[in-house]
Amino acid sequence: MTNPHSSSFSELEFRFFPHENFRPHQREGIESIFNSVKVGNILLLDSPTGTGKSAMVLCGVLEAMSNNEKLVVITRTHSQYKIFIQEFMRVKRKHDNLKFGLLVGRSNVCPMHVGYETCGFLRKNSLSQIKDGTDWYSEGEIIKYRKTVSDKPKSAICPYFINCFQRNQTTPLFDGEAGTLINNQLNKPQTPEKFNKLCMDRKYPKCPYELMKSTLSSCDVMLLHYHYLIDPGVRDAVISSRWLGCGFENIHLVVDEAHNLAPYIQDICSLEFSKEDVLNAIKLVEKGELHGVEYSLNPLKGNIGDIVVLLDDLNLFLEHWFSNKSKSELLGGLIEDVIPEKQMFKASDRSLEYLNLATNLVKTQFNKRKKSREIPDEIPVPGIVNISKTLKQISRQTEDRFIKTIRIKPLSKSVGKTLDGKINIADYGISLRMIDIDPRDAVKYLSDSFKSLTLISGTLTPTELYRKLLFYDGIEVKEMSIPSPFPPENRLMLCCKDVTSLRRYRDNEENISNVKKCMEGLFAADGNIAVFFTSYGLKDRYLSYVQDLSHKTGKGVMDENRGIDKHKFIEEYKKHGNAALLAVCRGNFSEGVDFIGGAMNAVAVIGLPLAPWNMKQKKVNRYYERIFGPDVGEEIAYYLPAVTAAVQALGRCIRSPHEKGILVLGDSRYCSEAATGAKRLLPRWMQDEMQVVYSKEIESLIKQKIDGWGSLSEQNEIIPSIKTDYKDDFKRADTLINQNTETAHTIISCLEHLQINVGRILLADILSGSKSKKISGLNLAGSLHYGSSKKYSRGQIVNMIDQLIEKDYLGVKRSNSIYHRPTLSVTDKGKEAIRNGEEIQLELPVENKEEKITLSEPEEILYGELKLFRKRAALEKNLPFYCIFDNKTLQRIAKARPRDYEELLKLKGIGKAKLKAYGDEIIEIMDRGKRAKTYSVDEIEDRIVSEAAKTKTYSVDEIRGTYPSAYEKWTKEEEEKLINEFDSTLSPSEIADLHGRKRGAIRVRLRRLDLID
Ligand code: SF4
Repeated sequence: MTNPHSSSFSELEFRFFPHENFRPHQREGIESIFNSVKVGNILLLDSPTGTGKSAMVLCGVLEAMSNNEKLVVITRTHSQYKIFIQEFMRVKRKHDNLKFGLLVGRSNVCPMHVGYETCGFLRKNSLSQIKDGTDWYSEGEIIKYRKTVSDKPKSAICPYFINCFQRNQTTPLFDGEAGTLINNQLNKPQTPEKFNKLCMDRKYPKCPYELMKSTLSSCDVMLLHYHYLIDPGVRDAVISSRWLGCGFENIHLVVDEAHNLAPYIQDICSLEFSKEDVLNAIKLVEKGELHGVEYSLNPLKGNIGDIVVLLDDLNLFLEHWFSNKSKSELLGGLIEDVIPEKQMFKASDRSLEYLNLATNLVKTQFNKRKKSREIPDEIPVPGIVNISKTLKQISRQTEDRFIKTIRIKPLSKSVGKTLDGKINIADYGISLRMIDIDPRDAVKYLSDSFKSLTLISGTLTPTELYRKLLFYDGIEVKEMSIPSPFPPENRLMLCCKDVTSLRRYRDNEENISNVKKCMEGLFAADGNIAVFFTSYGLKDRYLSYVQDLSHKTGKGVMDENRGIDKHKFIEEYKKHGNAALLAVCRGNFSEGVDFIGGAMNAVAVIGLPLAPWNMKQKKVNRYYERIFGPDVGEEIAYYLPAVTAAVQALGRCIRSPHEKGILVLGDSRYCSEAATGAKRLLPRWMQDEMQVVYSKEIESLIKQKIDGWGSLSEQNEIIPSIKTDYKDDFKRADTLINQNTETAHTIISCLEHLQINVGRILLADILSGSKSKKISGLNLAGSLHYGSSKKYSRGQIVNMIDQLIEKDYLGVKRSNSIYHRPTLSVTDKGKEAIRNGEEIQLELPVENKEEKITLSEPEEILYGELKLFRKRAALEKNLPFYCIFDNKTLQRIAKARPRDYEELLKLKGIGKAKLKAYGDEIIEIMDRGKRAKTYSVDEIEDRIVSEAAKTKTYSVDEIRGTYPSAYEKWTKEEEEKLINEFDSTLSPSEIADLHGRKRGAIRVRLRRLDLID
């Protein structure tokens, strides 16, 4: 790629900024990222919804990075992929040579629906088949073939994988059809779903995962799921296979949704094995067999029994734990308890030692076989190695940052839903885990390995606490918090001071009644609403009450259950348009789901979603309190994750600056400044705008606010799904910069983006979305700004262009065309204004073409009379008609039928001078209109013609002596010619001469063409 990168902050030119306007504070965000990336620093950036994070990241990093470097963004949710791809495509319009790579987890796209291990075998076998020479597989053959894969996975091949290669060649992939798919994805990336479809919709369907992976080495910007760089096992595979095309030291890493980084690290980096692993390990040890390869456990001969006893003990221990759980606990979902060590299992040191020895043997032989390619690279080390490693850590790690737990989790969503409701151990996954609760080592690895590290999220407040949570003291981390860019007047932020989810008040009658009032209040909002609870249990307690409310109000109820199909549910909710969603914080809908376009008009979070106060949480609290002191420690360990979860849930409502919405925090702790309160952890704008109220006040406050706005559903246009059409998405106004600055920026940017020279009219036509032949002939309807100023007429836009020329934002160049048509250019001042998001004062048209006056038949007749009067007056004074009155003013008069001067003067277009000159005659016409014989519209037309004939001083022939084309019909071609001339420097008289018509006739035609008022 060419190097348009800025070399120092003073040279930052926002060349990679994909929009014409900056959102509020977006520029500062870009500068912070640029400054940090340029010197390889660490940045913690709190950037709320609406600040344009993706554009910020792309612009800031791309401006700072050098040619041999890459930008890698890691994210957790799929909705981020779409947004990021859209922004990338906008940047690519300016820098076409940029390339994009994307990789999601194999399980999301593998058409064979096989696991990691089986895929490894299929690929290995396929490669040998390719070497031996094989044909591609058509869809029909694949269907026949796939039946055999499940029978003999270890000796089967993957037809989708084979189809990725040229016949008889194992490298490279960048040829043929696969190469085309890869190159298209690099240049015009598609979401994983669309790319998957593209790979499948072919005669010889191909593996989307393999092709996506192949884009990574050649791209400049890539988007990966967290696990590729955070899960140590996967990361090692990424490094060793050099998928990324360069070392980490040349990569600028951006972690999106960074508020999730700590829990993700805790989850992914914990050591864990399941009961299933133990059973497999028992088989493995007893048989001495692994993946069809004999493992000699000879050095342990005679001691295998000890290992089996240990594993049996472990198995019994896990089962015993399960059997002690009550049915309601098990049906509640995931249970995680800390294990008191003495209760764990009766393992002798000797058996642990043998297990260790056995796994070392397995590991060594396994790796040897991998090296000699007997086992594919993709096959993970056997479970027994993991068991041994975890047990070793469990017995050795005594530091309080390591917590040993046992987890019981239903394997399927329908567990416990059977009619008999029986609990079966086989339906549950039981596992032993050792969690390292401190994420700082894992984050340090990222900051040490990558060239720069940027952590960004919409909920990283207070950044100071996140810094403490994620980084060791002494590591230099820059922090930045961007304020919410959404207008405060578009939201109502309430906090209910007489509601709580504190356990001791859950059964309190008054609290229950207040929660109900709080929800009843929320039901006052029209359209879709949502109530998030702290747990499924709490939600279920209020379900029947919400159903009653629903009967009374006619609002539908949609209840989030564990077994729901998330995507279908969301689509139904969006389509419903008047439903109450009952959901839970940290559930399916509280994060990573975009309810844009008024798909959610009001939201309440009932309670503070603190983690269960169990042994595990107590240990976590104790650990952080030891490190940071009691207050800060408790905040980091306990309150920060809860407030972040609540803020995330609230953030589902109001997703753009134009949306309005109601936000309710239903717990007194959110408005408490006390040590046990959570107010100080909320984003600044929430703290500032929050109205602390009683639950009984909520309904009236919401109604009052909505009355002021009008209906919420009408205000917030519902957009059923996230758009992938970049142009439409662009057109959605996404800036708060005042309207005249925005319009000025749009005009300048439109001109800047055009590849051809244009004059005022053509530029106005593009902006107004004209469907003229010229626009279609030059293929301008597809240009970026086409139709972006639709609400203005061509003449109004021309007027604004003239203002920009006058203010030196646009320049005029003469061309050599026959009409001396000048073309426009953007001046340095104009470029500077766009880059810096400068305010531009532009006089916006007062009247736009939306104003339509519809006249009834009698009014039409009056209008005709008024036109006749105007004609007479114009001929008398030898003035063009519009100098007397324009059509709109006459229509207004006909519509209003003023009875006296006072009423006439109230009308737009009538000033004192016009009143003095024509007032009497108009009032006379109005009076006549009341008494008069009514003429039909046709009769009026006839009268106009005859009146004209009467008042005409010269015959047409005589007039044509001077003006050869006078009274001739205008042709399309002549009109086009006139448009070009109007856009030139020719005077009206010169234009009239060129057409052989009167100056007045030219003016009239220009008005008809909407070029002058
Ligand atoms: S190679 Fe691709 S299609 Fe084949 S099993 Fe692996 S991921 Fe699935």
